[in-house]
Amino acid sequence: MTAPAPCICLTCGPAALLPQRRYRCKSAQGKALFGGSQLYRCQGCGLIQAFPLPSLPALAEYYAEDYRNHCLSATDAEELQKFPLDNLFYYNRGQSVAELLAPRVTSPQPRILDIGAGYGHILHALGERFPGCTLSAIEFSNVCVEHLRSRGIAVFAQPAEEILPALPPFDVIVLSHALEHFLDPGAMLRLIASRLSPGGILYVEVPHIPEEAMHRYIDSVWAPRVDEPHITFFDPRSLSGALAASGLAVELCTTAGPEYSRVSALRFHIPQWRWLMERIIPKPIFRFLRRQRAAQSMKVNAREDAFYQQGGFRIWIRAIARRTAA
Ligand SMILES: [Zn+2]
Repeated sequence: MTAPAPCICLTCGPAALLPQRRYRCKSAQGKALFGGSQLYRCQGCGLIQAFPLPSLPALAEYYAEDYRNHCLSATDAEELQKFPLDNLFYYNRGQSVAELLAPRVTSPQPRILDIGAGYGHILHALGERFPGCTLSAIEFSNVCVEHLRSRGIAVFAQPAEEILPALPPFDVIVLSHALEHFLDPGAMLRLIASRLSPGGILYVEVPHIPEEAMHRYIDSVWAPRVDEPHITFFDPRSLSGALAASGLAVELCTTAGPEYSRVSALRFHIPQWRWLMERIIPKPIFRFLRRQRAAQSMKVNAREDAFYQQGGFRIWIRAIARRTAA
């Protein structure tokens, strides 16, 4: 049975939401959470969103175990003794984010919080730029928490919804590849806006999923990409609108990072190949190959210029929004 279409957009409120296509999962665990979901597009702000949504406890259980083991997502520990050069993909992301943010930070010794910090590549890069700053993180993964604490970072291993109201204001809050995972992104952005000091900035980075990419292959078998486990799918307009709705002044909102075609040619041009392989190859071998391929895509140069570029059909959206001094 299909659930009735939602009539509340996750960021802009009451609105007409038009069905797009079925939600695409990549693991059995994901199917249990999102198997009956559809993607809808808000006619007001353009945000694409999943509905119906899993419960928060079910989602928390998924992130505790399945996200890393079956979904092959999130940062992978390689050789942490080489940190921050352990993973050049995350190293470049950290450096490029710090380069973008540094000129906009007004406090000489900023209080910085990264929500969903992973191993802390962004915090490390910001720490290099602002000696004397205070670094904090909200992070669940045990290996990441241990690593962050070993580097002197204050870590809160609780949901942001619970811990944020109890924390003092920050001059910089980082939300990199996290916003699209929240069940209520509008409420999260309003909460974050309330925890910024006057003049403080929020940095948001999300995958760039324009409507065109959603529909490039209509049939789920020929999926250009999977959706699991994202709740929301942004383009620059819907992200900018969501930030403005939280009361912040949007200073930057643009596509950024590697160009689409370069990173996902396989999925865009011969997506049936993957589907065929998955059916022919025994599951353990398929998983091994997929893991190898995921690791390969993380192998980039010590300085990857595309990470510092903006505009056009690129795989991320980067945004900076400020709490104006009232
Ligand atoms: Zn909307």
